[in-house]
Amino acid sequence: LAPMQLQEILYSQGFGTRRVCSGLVEQGWVALGEPAQICRDPWLECEPEGLVFWVQGQRWTHQRLAYLMLHKPAGYECSQKPGAWPSVYSLLPSPLRQRPGGAASGVQAVGRLDQDTTGLLLLSDDGAFIHRMASPRHHVPKVYELTCKHPLQADQIERLLQGVVLDDDPKPVRAAACEAVDAHHLRLTLTEGKYHQVKRMLAAVGNRVEALHRSRIGPVTLPDDLKAGEWRWLTPEQVQSLQ
Ligand code: URA
Repeated sequence: LAPMQLQEILYSQGFGTRRVCSGLVEQGWVALGEPAQICRDPWLECEPEGLVFWVQGQRWTHQRLAYLMLHKPAGYECSQKPGAWPSVYSLLPSPLRQRPGGAASGVQAVGRLDQDTTGLLLLSDDGAFIHRMASPRHHVPKVYELTCKHPLQADQIERLLQGVVLDDDPKPVRAAACEAVDAHHLRLTLTEGKYHQVKRMLAAVGNRVEALHRSRIGPVTLPDDLKAGEWRWLTPEQVQSLQ
């Protein structure tokens, strides 16, 4: 990337208006590199690619576009303007919500999980990436771990694999894979994402979802050490492998 002024880099990463960003630098809140060295010149030309910088003691790496995963906890809505529950966006630091660009500012969730669903949620400010991932033609498998109210019957699993008809479309939807973990736990893979699809599929075969967790999207697995409510950057390899 071409060198950019430090205040411009901070602006692009969501730290506020150019004025605010210049002020942060002049007041000594910004450091560069590892080990961190305070820089008080907002006009300093820096190479943004791979830049490590610190704002008010927090470490950041420059990301031209942001791609991240969040371990969504229960009790959060995937909505910018939530109703009854707090928003998943409230779990992210403000720069991620303020990054300029596109129609909306900040990162957006790639699809949605229900308020009571936990697990892997991807977010980005790359509009083309979000669009591709959400396209019905893009069949990236998503793996869900379910807790079911009633003991699982062999014929229920068979029907989920064969296809069930939901109330808004005569075309049956089927699980790409479905395996019983034990009598009340099921691992289900879907390659599409209709509204409440997992819950409606289980209801259609006469069972009921009591807890739902998404553990994987395509090649990206929710890491064991990413706790509910925490986020981290996707690696460039993960971003590449999702497209
Ligand atoms: N299917 C559902 O029913 N809910 C989700 O949150 C995701 C998939």
